[in-house]
Amino acid sequence: MGYEYDDQNIFAKILRGEIPNDTVLETEHSLAFRDIAPQAPAHVLVIPKGAYVTQDHFAEAASADEIVDFMRAVGEVCRILGVAPGAGGAGFRTLSNAGTHGVQEVPHFHMHVLAGRPLGPMLAA
Ligand code: 5GP
Repeated sequence: MGYEYDDQNIFAKILRGEIPNDTVLETEHSLAFRDIAPQAPAHVLVIPKGAYVTQDHFAEAASADEIVDFMRAVGEVCRILGVAPGAGGAGFRTLSNAGTHGVQEVPHFHMHVLAGRPLGPMLAA
């Protein structure tokens, strides 16, 4: 078992500049860009620049610098979007899908940041 990274996945292509993206924030180790099919008025994906498949893979294999950078990037995105409650925003939801039951479409670890309307119950089904 373990993780094998597919460097032909769509986010790897975005990181290599082969596919355009609508960047919200770029840091040393992370990139945040708008989801191509937004499910809320604000829908941003935050990804590490490193080759990690899922959140547990990232947690296990990334350096402390990468993990701190990533978590700070998620927070900064919320502030940029104006949705951080501590800065007067109305709130947001973060989620990360992994594997088959998580219904992960793109096998490069990413955190969804959803906001801009009441988001309802955590799971619809
Ligand atoms: P997952 O189901 O893997 O958690 O979510 C993958 C997300 O990536 C989806 O919300 C989908 O709309 C988004 N996505 C897929 N292809 C592209 C793309 O080429 N560009 C952008 N910006 N988002 C994409």
